[in-house]
Amino acid sequence: DEDFGILDLASEDPDAIVYLPALPVLAIVGRPNVGKSALVNRIIGRREAVVQDTPGVTRDRVNYKAEWADRSFTIVDTGGWEPDAKGINASVAAQAEIAIDLADAVLFVVDATVGATSTDEHVVRMLRATRKPVILVGNKVDDVHQEPDAAALWSLGLGEPWPVSAVHGRGVADLLDHVLTILPEISAVAKEEVGGPRRVAILGKPNVGKSSLLNKTAGEERVVVNEMAGTTRDPVDEQIELGGKFWRFVDTAGIRRRVNLSQGADFYATLRTSAALEKAEVAVVVIDVSAPISVQDLKIVDLVLESGRALVLAYNKWDLLDDERRVYLEREIEQDLSHVSWAPRVNISAKTGRHLEKLVPALELALASWDTRIPTGKFNALLAELTQEHPHPVRGGKQPRILFGTQAASRPPTFVLFTTGFLDPQYRRFITRRLREIFGFEGSPINVNMRVRE
Ligand code: GDP
Repeated sequence: DEDFGILDLASEDPDAIVYLPALPVLAIVGRPNVGKSALVNRIIGRREAVVQDTPGVTRDRVNYKAEWADRSFTIVDTGGWEPDAKGINASVAAQAEIAIDLADAVLFVVDATVGATSTDEHVVRMLRATRKPVILVGNKVDDVHQEPDAAALWSLGLGEPWPVSAVHGRGVADLLDHVLTILPEISAVAKEEVGGPRRVAILGKPNVGKSSLLNKTAGEERVVVNEMAGTTRDPVDEQIELGGKFWRFVDTAGIRRRVNLSQGADFYATLRTSAALEKAEVAVVVIDVSAPISVQDLKIVDLVLESGRALVLAYNKWDLLDDERRVYLEREIEQDLSHVSWAPRVNISAKTGRHLEKLVPALELALASWDTRIPTGKFNALLAELTQEHPHPVRGGKQPRILFGTQAASRPPTFVLFTTGFLDPQYRRFITRRLREIFGFEGSPINVNMRVRE
């Protein structure tokens, strides 16, 4: 048995999410300053100092992979948006709404030293209206003398309050044991029915035409509302028949429900996008060609890349394009989106219906790439060819060699190279580029990781 040192590039970023389909999703909801970030840090075991809940601080990342007692789940931290006092009700209501729509269970955090506020009671009313399980946490219970504070939260009517101290870790293990008894083994919100419809997320910043696209594509087709949405309000997903097949469009509720928020709209959009990606297999990122490509568009593309889902780019409002704008658009695409030049591109108009029929073939291509498995024999024959054609440069008198490679996972295709030394980043990029040239992988990200033998 070879002794390989574990050097997995996927884990260079300690927060990196290794993509696993259908992990159960736990959403954390609560007022600002109750200690949501501290609790998330504690649960995911982040080594760095606990980030204080600072009013006004927004974070981009909202999803984390957590592990406890040999089980994995995704945590959605809804708390990155800390509004001023006026906006608190709206912000917490929006958190709760997303949690209810897109999570398997909700962890509702209350500051036990303060007790339940009217905002908390407002959230409780929303949470009660759902069939999703809710776990009530009384935070800041730093010692046994404060436990009565948590017990007082029984009055919220959400069952037993779990007393914890996120900062000191007190009670968190018991809480997590309890969470595991509540979370399903496999996500119900992302459940993959065998042979069931494939899951598509339509993403994009406001006003790019997401709901127009949805309405136009669904317009003449059969729409089936998803029954297992698990809320008493609007359906969360819709199944739409396109090209003779059913597709499940996830979080259409988030597209159809227009949210007007004076503050925090960006964070709200990021949260919704990340949560929808958790459930999707392929994302259609809609870009409005009538305006310059913006940082917000690129951030959405980045979220898709980070999620490891397949990607299709839909350039919408093509009917508004004149010759001059078209030149700029192509330049912008080349400049800002060259890193996703592998994504199938459709130039559409949700208004006129232009080229909408090209969406399904693009989705099918992207998903086929995402599902691809390269047999190990074929992959190694290819590696032998590549390394012969272009050997790794000698570094400090040594030349790292690739001993063997295998595709460790699909969805997206993930390759592992077993090597005798650390491969240069450029060399890894060369391998990745050649893999794309040979296999295409249109519409799918691919990962090339390595394990170095000590
Ligand atoms: P969403 O916020 O991404 O869901 O965007 P909407 O679907 O609500 O569209 C925003 C605005 O753009 C609306 O006024 C639409 O009528 C308009 N719109 C959407 N798609 C197109 C298109 O292809 N061409 C033109 N000219 N207008 C569009």
